[in-house]
Amino acid sequence: MLNFAPAFKDAFRALCLATFCALGFALPPAEAASGAFAFSQVAPGVYVHHGEVAETSPANRGDIANIGFVVGDEAVAMIDSGGSAAVGEAALEGLRAITNKPVRYLVNTHMHPDHIFGNQAFKAAGAGLIGHRRLPAALTARGEFYKQSMRDQLGAELADAVVITPPDETVDSERMIDLGGRELTLKAWSTAHTDNDLTVYDQRTRTLFAGDLVFLDHLPVIDGSIKGWLAQMPELKAIPAERVVPGHGPVSTPWPEALEPETRYLEALASDIRMAIADGVPLAEAAETAGRSEADKWQLFDTYNARNATAAYAELEWE
Ligand SMILES: [Zn+2]
Repeated sequence: MLNFAPAFKDAFRALCLATFCALGFALPPAEAASGAFAFSQVAPGVYVHHGEVAETSPANRGDIANIGFVVGDEAVAMIDSGGSAAVGEAALEGLRAITNKPVRYLVNTHMHPDHIFGNQAFKAAGAGLIGHRRLPAALTARGEFYKQSMRDQLGAELADAVVITPPDETVDSERMIDLGGRELTLKAWSTAHTDNDLTVYDQRTRTLFAGDLVFLDHLPVIDGSIKGWLAQMPELKAIPAERVVPGHGPVSTPWPEALEPETRYLEALASDIRMAIADGVPLAEAAETAGRSEADKWQLFDTYNARNATAAYAELEWE
């Protein structure tokens, strides 16, 4: 059951989330898991599948987030599992076409369904699931809600195929995992895109899996804190990566340049909202105008900007 805090701010976020879910799921079972699930190698032993930059649709069956894996001498770590049980199964099949090593870990970068609704396939394959320390609570609070939204949109059959599968272990601040001669650094961040963002850094190739802490092409979505996200940019930027795998957008992009577009957007939005609040512009009006200078620079701008502006207004109003 849902467990939202009674505060207005949280209620507002719940509403935003409901919209997110309504917009996010439109996948019919008939399209599930057809065709090969392609991974491309972006660095030695690092494979990424490109999720379409789009809303979930019948054509993409929830395959809208970048997911990937890293192969060590002994084992594999998968990073995120896709937006439906069918996508998770297809991803595991695609992985198996590349390596037979055991999938020792599945790391979840955060709670959103397009990143974790394929978890059960990897759990069944024997992977240990790892997430941010706040991921279990987020799934307890929102998992059934996400599924109900999916049910409303698509019917019980497809929604009921998803088993909300929480992490077996969590990361408080930082943790290393060893794949045999290959170590990955997992880092739990403070609230930004969500309150449970986790990144994965492959030291051998200096590849950063950023989850939705990095958006490219796809408008960034704020479901955590715009202030928190901006405040952590310097720390993100300091990661000595050569390339990043963003949650959405091109599967491999030079680092830290990849941070520039979303930083520019978030700063523009925060600045416009602060000005609107100072000028007494009501929320409904500010939601239509804030961030407009970025409209032609992003895909899905009209889908998500007003919601971002609304979330930012609710947060910055209390400064
Ligand atoms: Zn997300």
